[in-house]
Amino acid sequence: MKTEGPGKPAARPAEATGRAARTHRAAEQRLSGIAVSPGIVIGQIHDTTQAPAEVPRRSVTDDRVEAERTRLTDAAAFSRKQVSKLKTRLSVLPEEAQEELEPLLDAYILMLGNSRLLRGARKRIGDELLSAETAVQDEAEAIAALILAAKDDDKAGLNRRAGEVREIARRLVRNLTATPFRSLKGVPAGAILISDELTPADAALLEPGRVAAVATEEGGADGHTAIMLRALGIPAVLGCPGLTTAARRGDQAVLDGGAGRITLHPGAEALAAAKEGLAAQAKERARLGKLRRLPAETTDGQQVELQANLEIPAELPLIANAGAQGIGLLRTEFLFMNREDLPDEDAQVEAYRRIVEAMGQDPVTIRVLDWGGEKDMEALAQGVPVPTGPNPALGLRGIRLLLKKPELLEEQFAAILRVAHLGNVRILLPMVTVPKEVAQAREIYERVARRLRRRGETLPEKLPPLGAMIETPGAALAADAIALEADFFAIGTNDLAMYTLAVDRAEIDVAHLYDPLHPAVLRLMQFATEAALRLRMPVSVCGEMAGNPKLVPLLLGLGLRSLSMNASSIPRVKQAVRSLDIDDCARFARRVMEQSDPARIAQLVERFGRKAD
Ligand code: PEP
Ligand code: MG
Repeated sequence: MKTEGPGKPAARPAEATGRAARTHRAAEQRLSGIAVSPGIVIGQIHDTTQAPAEVPRRSVTDDRVEAERTRLTDAAAFSRKQVSKLKTRLSVLPEEAQEELEPLLDAYILMLGNSRLLRGARKRIGDELLSAETAVQDEAEAIAALILAAKDDDKAGLNRRAGEVREIARRLVRNLTATPFRSLKGVPAGAILISDELTPADAALLEPGRVAAVATEEGGADGHTAIMLRALGIPAVLGCPGLTTAARRGDQAVLDGGAGRITLHPGAEALAAAKEGLAAQAKERARLGKLRRLPAETTDGQQVELQANLEIPAELPLIANAGAQGIGLLRTEFLFMNREDLPDEDAQVEAYRRIVEAMGQDPVTIRVLDWGGEKDMEALAQGVPVPTGPNPALGLRGIRLLLKKPELLEEQFAAILRVAHLGNVRILLPMVTVPKEVAQAREIYERVARRLRRRGETLPEKLPPLGAMIETPGAALAADAIALEADFFAIGTNDLAMYTLAVDRAEIDVAHLYDPLHPAVLRLMQFATEAALRLRMPVSVCGEMAGNPKLVPLLLGLGLRSLSMNASSIPRVKQAVRSLDIDDCARFARRVMEQSDPARIAQLVERFGRKAD
């Protein structure tokens, strides 16, 4: 988690009252966000964006004064951006909440300009030779003390003003220190964890048994954080503006991940409805549980392979319970997250061995490192060239980065090859855009295999298949050429939609434009699928689309017979498969592919999907 994601006012001090505190009145308050992971939870809020521990006092030498002042100016500018961004989100809140919050945020923005706080801190840096954060803290305390000492009967008002100064100071300090948030472990069991932002690396640290639900201000439905939350089966609402300002630690709340709603201080009626929802949820789970042992077979006897995506090993038990036929996408990024060095070959072997052995003879498709894009580059292990350009998603991402840093790819290939004889392994290359990338990766792959054999390692006689992700429009349109180099395709609809529509999958402001049912995305999927089928090459879909039961008729109709999704979606997708006839699906897909309006497609899919759901 970033120290302070955009749009998050720092934790409100306990003494703050009046305008700020009025948003905390115990009246029921409903907040809306993006429905990311279904499930109803009644629990207590655990705000993880509380102020960090006191930053140690630090002096600086004369020659650092200007540098410290620049740091302060930068942190103020960044903080202003954060608060302004939050302000733009207010429009989705109920009017009453907007009226409460707007003046407060305006006051913050003023304080982050040429305010007494910033002028004073700047002066202290030079006069007292203090670090920027120490100067900010000292100046804020001095201003707060002055405010509180004023002769005024409105003590609540004084407290509020002092609290606001301290709050802004905390925001500045947080941005100055960029202290990574690391208190996810202390979350009380059953809590609803809220935060300004949760990165995929943070999500990897969550304990699914403890954290009952997650809600954040930032984030979209198909970002990696969302994917991980779904995979862990943690009900979640992301992109919920005003959340961290409205809720505080200990508040009772109901989170409905399917509806994208959080109700703070629920009244009797809301609580009763939530309890009813919980009972229905338990019944539905029991019903879907019964599907586990039944085949994923259409009414006319067509087998469909339903596999699981795995982001962290903690999901393995969920995968076993879901009745997955193997892992269709093992995202190996988790191995590189939350650590300062690179995992060496042996450490990787251990990680892959655990997973491959746990899956027995079921296929395990291991995707080599897909670093870059929105995947939390701050946490990037040392030694990997971090994409630093203005557009990381268009930069050194996935296979591009690995070919630039072949030692990394060699090590990962070696580790995967060393466990390949233990099960049924396949290897997948991310972010391929040109056939040559597959050819180059294969050269390295075969070289590594030869070296391992010379070293006396046990390798399967036939090397595991080497496949390509089809997740850019370039790859989809060149699928016929890439098919000549790759052994299989996995269509990554998350990135395919992002790159086709030029919409960042984790960016809330454009979330409404992110639409995998856009005809452009569907046509690319169709083209790539047909290119594979012509060569009788295995092709699957492993983006989030694959886990949506309503989309199953369309995917089957396009000719796909292998879907990989978060484990918790498998039962419902299986239920959909078992209700469908392939000829109906093919007819339906033809009808969809004739449409040009995404809204019309969504309507058709909804209507047909209802039958299957
Ligand atoms: C995709 O892009 O659809 C995909 C499966 O890869 P990831 O979500 O890991 O980028
Ligand atoms: Mg992708």
